[in-house]
Amino acid sequence: MKAFANEPFTNFSLPENATAIKEALAQVRQELGKKYPLYIGGEAIYTDEVITSTNPANENEVIGFASKADLVLAEKAMESANSTFAYWSKVSPEERAIFLFKAAELMRQRKHYFSAWLILESGKNWAEADADTAEAIDFMNFYAHEMLRYANPPALVPISGEYNQMKYIPLGVGLVIPPWNFPLAIMAGMTVASVVTGNTVVLKPASTTPIIAAKFMELLQEVGLPGGVVNYLPGSGGAIGDFLVSHKLTRFINFTGSKEIGLRISGLASKVAPGQKWIKRVAAEMGGKDSIIVDETADLDKAAQGIVASAFGFQGQKCSACSRAIIVEGVYEQVIEKAVALAQKLNQGSPEENYNMGPVIEKRAMEKILEYIEIGKQEGKLLMGGERLGEVGWFIKPTIFRDIAPDARLSKEEIFGPVLAMIKVSDFNEALEVANNTEYGLTGSLYSNSRENIVKAKEDFHVGNLYFNRKCTGALVGVHPFGGFNMSGTCSKAGGFDYLGLFLQMKITSEII
Ligand code: NAP
Repeated sequence: MKAFANEPFTNFSLPENATAIKEALAQVRQELGKKYPLYIGGEAIYTDEVITSTNPANENEVIGFASKADLVLAEKAMESANSTFAYWSKVSPEERAIFLFKAAELMRQRKHYFSAWLILESGKNWAEADADTAEAIDFMNFYAHEMLRYANPPALVPISGEYNQMKYIPLGVGLVIPPWNFPLAIMAGMTVASVVTGNTVVLKPASTTPIIAAKFMELLQEVGLPGGVVNYLPGSGGAIGDFLVSHKLTRFINFTGSKEIGLRISGLASKVAPGQKWIKRVAAEMGGKDSIIVDETADLDKAAQGIVASAFGFQGQKCSACSRAIIVEGVYEQVIEKAVALAQKLNQGSPEENYNMGPVIEKRAMEKILEYIEIGKQEGKLLMGGERLGEVGWFIKPTIFRDIAPDARLSKEEIFGPVLAMIKVSDFNEALEVANNTEYGLTGSLYSNSRENIVKAKEDFHVGNLYFNRKCTGALVGVHPFGGFNMSGTCSKAGGFDYLGLFLQMKITSEII
């Protein structure tokens, strides 16, 4: 078996790759507007009520219709996951891992097809979609390898007269609740990690991106994953979420999304339902308010590039996005000038045509971001952007504010859009204080050539993923295990070596010999 290696990104400047993605987009266009079932116990169920998924670049274009679960179907999905657990938990780890290796290989063969769905349903440009698909492939391969490692744990400390063994066993029925912003990678990664460990799940995709999840379900069916291992249940989080979280059969919840919903889930999960026999385990990865610090020793061109890439990649809709640049006063004006010059070069338009920037995910998100822009106009000085682009699709121009105070709302609240706050500080120590002044602690970056500052940041910049002299987005599976501190979540480190342990429990057996 080959060792794990990250899936390479596609170089779209090569004409053959550009042609391949255009062909995939043409193929997906032929498939738009179809209706997809939900899956319970392997049975495809079509409902009358549907979630209509539309193209964020053109809300008049329907991507597909997802069958939508109500509480009756949610109960059925829980029961299916529960009854399938008895069988699936006894399938060997090696057998379970094979399904992931196969699914990864098939996705690799159809990489551009999956990326094309991402481009149309979530508004990613080619490179962003390609990275999402590559990460999904990585998660499947990485967790399959990881399961094989967990299946052969190290020996216990020997003692004479006893034969002692440890073994990781699954937990039971899990809920997988992913966000829409990495609608393939995070959704697939959370799902396969939960089931390769021997658990069965109910997967409730985000309501803005259910079609890409349906495509993933088709892939799992194709590789022969037994029915009932993943029960695919699109439905409104508000309508069925509390029911699923509170259900007595729910053993664990694997959530990624906003702080508000993560805390709600954590609170509900702590209550014991009648007949419930365990304490529910919650992995909740939540929001971020991520900073890039620039000190006076930094390469300012590289810093400006990193700030702009981290702030405006996928329209700032990454939990790791740089939404504030904290710059020491000696280089503040220069960094602003360079960053604005770079941001002004970004072009914006249809993701299909591969503009640097596309739309935000939905109307509600656009309105919320525009509200923050109005707040920004009170709190700082608008340097560029600050408004919607066009009237079709949910486009917001890349927006930069300067002179935002460290305790302003723009400095402390997650906006999740293409809005960047420039903050001036007197020195590096103050920069660190400001970087740590939110309730979050997900990613961060420092541009510096001072060894002393780098060492200090390693100690005191309190985030789960800290980078130096590079952008603060773009974590790679296995290379940069991902997850944050404080209100950014439970620090489960997706793509890391402890991750599968969240969905397992250890059994010790001891025999007298
Ligand atoms: P969200 O609104 O919290 O939704 C996340 C998921 O929760 C969706 O599937 C949603 O379903 C579901 N949900 C809503 N209400 C629920 C309830 N009462 N019970 C159970 N589930 C419920 O977040 P989002 O807008 O999709 O994603 C953006 C957020 O995710 C940002 O805050 C971002 O920082 C964070 N994020 C964090 C990470 C990380 O690794 N830390 C990674 C990516 C994103 P519906 O779609 O049906 O409402």
